[in-house]
Amino acid sequence: MVLLGFTFFLFRIFEGWFAKSFNRPLFRHYFVYKKLIPSQIKILENDFEFYNNLSEKHKRQFQHRIVEFLSKKKFIGRGELIVTEQIKVLIAAIACMLSFGRKNYTYSLIDFILIYPAEFYSTVNNNFHKGEFNPKERALVLSWKDFLEGFQINNDNLNVGIHEFMHAMQLEAKNSSDIDSARFTKQFQNILKQLTKQEVKDQLDKTKYFREYAFTNQYEFMAVLAEYFFESPQDFKTIFPKLYDYTKKLLNFNFAGY
Ligand SMILES: [Zn+2]
Repeated sequence: MVLLGFTFFLFRIFEGWFAKSFNRPLFRHYFVYKKLIPSQIKILENDFEFYNNLSEKHKRQFQHRIVEFLSKKKFIGRGELIVTEQIKVLIAAIACMLSFGRKNYTYSLIDFILIYPAEFYSTVNNNFHKGEFNPKERALVLSWKDFLEGFQINNDNLNVGIHEFMHAMQLEAKNSSDIDSARFTKQFQNILKQLTKQEVKDQLDKTKYFREYAFTNQYEFMAVLAEYFFESPQDFKTIFPKLYDYTKKLLNFNFAGY
């Protein structure tokens, strides 16, 4: 027993060293065995392009992660909205896509997912919101209409699902010490360093919509980078090659052509 414990302890040290040295987790999974039911798989196949672009092995991992995610979060409809299987599977799919390169993928700061039919009034700043991450309530709040538009129109760089889940991931990274959080912090520092370079600043000025976020708030900037990464990877890579590279490393994202 002691020997087993000690072996495990050594393994954890090695795993940490590996993630630090190679900028990725040694394992993203120990076991992959949970499966979605056929009607849930149909939802992914019909509405979630990313899934169709994955290899068979990665499809199995993606399914396993969605089952885990669905079992851990409580979905609550607000303002007349009835939570359907499609709503649950697609929200879980966006969350699991963003965290697919990580070992830690279930967003420990979120317990509840609240879904409104459309934009909702938020008391956080007394304004209408399309989405919101509320760490105090351990809740991610989404407008279903805007969530759907976010990934159905996939080249406008707007994706409220990715945006809000990135807020949750970044706050978790700030307060945790797991290997993915450590990698997040390291790559985010690299991203911030880029913002001090004149040529990057000039490019940001040209890309107006980016600039608004870049120098206001680190959380907003990272959320917008993530939206850009998933919606327009080719553009992002061409215009901001370094930022693209660090974002890819931060997410450890080597799937489906990214
Ligand atoms: Zn935001």
